Amino acid sequence: MSRIESEARSLLLDRREALCRAHAVGSGGQGFVPDDVVPEPVAVGQVARELAEVDAALHRIAAGSYGTCSACGGPLGLQRLRAIPEARFCLGCSGHRPEDD
Ligand SMILES: [Zn+2]
Repeated sequence: MSRIESEARSLLLDRREALCRAHAVGSGGQGFVPDDVVPEPVAVGQVARELAEVDAALHRIAAGSYGTCSACGGPLGLQRLRAIPEARFCLGCSGHRPEDD
């Protein structure tokens, strides 16, 4: 595993944990929220979506395809991956991907 992959993996796992917690709180589940954690008021749909993105990125790391653009296959670049570890598209493709909302 490369350095950026292990960096991203640890960031993504932290993010995943935070999202899971937010999801449990947002959906009214039995959240085991520590006193020092104030969950952000986020929409459940948005949390689920981010969780899916994070999971997908973790899968790409496991599959060895992390860091390449899903649209053009080019490198995402270290700066972009550090800023957005779950990014799927390079800067050029993210601006006009058809499925973007
Ligand atoms: Zn691209």
